[in-house]
Amino acid sequence: MSALLRRLRPRTLRRRLALFNFFTLAVMLFVFSAAVYVPLRYKLYAQLDHELREDVETAETLLERLPSGELRWRVEAHEEQGANAFPERWVEVWRPKGDGTSELALSRPAPVAADRDPLRGAWGPSTIEADGGESVRQRCESCTVGAGSVVIRAARTETPLRNLLGPLLGFLIFGLSGFVAMSLFAGYGMAVRALAPVARMTEQARGLTAERLSERLPVDDPEDEIGRLASTFNEMFARLERAFEQLRRFTADASHELRTPLTALRSVGEVGLREPRDAETYREIIGSMLEEADRLTRLVEGLLTLSRADAGHVKLKREPVDLVELARETVGLLSVLAEERRQALEVEAAGAVRVNADKLLLRQAILNLVDNAIKYTPEGGRIRVVVSGTASGDGVGPGAAASVAGASLSVIDTGAGIPAAHRERIFDRFYRVDPARSREQGGAGLGLSIARWGVEAHGGRIELESEEGRGSTFRVVLPGAAA
Ligand code: ADP
Repeated sequence: MSALLRRLRPRTLRRRLALFNFFTLAVMLFVFSAAVYVPLRYKLYAQLDHELREDVETAETLLERLPSGELRWRVEAHEEQGANAFPERWVEVWRPKGDGTSELALSRPAPVAADRDPLRGAWGPSTIEADGGESVRQRCESCTVGAGSVVIRAARTETPLRNLLGPLLGFLIFGLSGFVAMSLFAGYGMAVRALAPVARMTEQARGLTAERLSERLPVDDPEDEIGRLASTFNEMFARLERAFEQLRRFTADASHELRTPLTALRSVGEVGLREPRDAETYREIIGSMLEEADRLTRLVEGLLTLSRADAGHVKLKREPVDLVELARETVGLLSVLAEERRQALEVEAAGAVRVNADKLLLRQAILNLVDNAIKYTPEGGRIRVVVSGTASGDGVGPGAAASVAGASLSVIDTGAGIPAAHRERIFDRFYRVDPARSREQGGAGLGLSIARWGVEAHGGRIELESEEGRGSTFRVVLPGAAA
């Protein structure tokens, strides 16, 4: 059954809308017609039946029985006058014969249905065909006149009533059916008009490919539903376009970054093979090849981290971590580099600052920030890592329990600072203020993006303050959370 219905269901939306419109209007008009016609008909017939009753009562008062038992009208003139004055009204007086039938005793002006014995036929108000073929409404009542009982039948023509109801019914059936039929076409036309933008959108969307993502769907009226749908799609296309563009740039940048150490590796190797050399030279060549391999490894690890982050595969393993201890550990790892550059590198904190965090991710972020500070601060500079709690909860401060409040960790250096024009973008992948210098120092422009992702994965943020020539401060702000 449902399969049949599904097959019968119109395939296009405009047909469905037009049909829905048609059926709704048809049902509404049917109910309206019935609500107009049925009560009106009932009322008119009730009125006619009431008049018939009055006719019977009048006739009863005008009847008299002679001592001989014969019936006659009390006022003879009334019969004549009545006949002329009310040509569409009839009164018959029937005398029961005692055997279940009756005979016509009197009538005026003439019997309306002389061969219809009321004792055998319909008693209550009903419509019958008069002798002349006309439809009349009749009513029979049993009355007592003198010593005997009679049956009085009053009848009136239905013609005026039918003249009123007939055209009305005709109009309701044919006129309104015409309207309903017209509404089918009008509804279809309207649906076609209303859905025309959808057809255009479909055409346009069909032509959209990864290469043509800059195109947009037509928006006729941004306020209506279809306009809003098109705008939403356009916003989605804009996001897709940005994502595609990012992906394209990322792939291009990644290939470029990979190519540089690979080329270096290859050329160092080729130079080494060109002629026989002593062991010391080979050692140097292998050393610089290993350096390039190291750079490659770091780059690939960075790319891997970011692609995992993009895919959303990284699950945080939160645990209570003392941020001060973590900062000391990280600084310990990098202190050799700072020493090489004769930089002062120290951690400042009033006491333990506990946070609920993924230790590895957070360590990577701090490592990248401190590594940058060392790289971009001249020899003899100073780098401070300042850790503090940001809320007054029990999670912060000396001897704090394992419950957690917000915390911040600032890496403050006395380097060259970052020009204002670059501050917005240095967190972008592969972005470097001075590509040549940064590459020389082993950077691929991924360190800050990885750090930012790691901190944001904890619900935190990295703030940057920098003054050219005086240094930069990268502040990691971690929100408080229940342990
Ligand atoms: P890189 O691997 O090149 O260091 P990052 O993403 O870590 O990449 O940093 C992006 C760029 O931001 C760097 O190339 C550098 O120009 C700038 N930068 C980062 N940290 C500092 C800092 N502490 N002082 C000055 N410039 C910095």
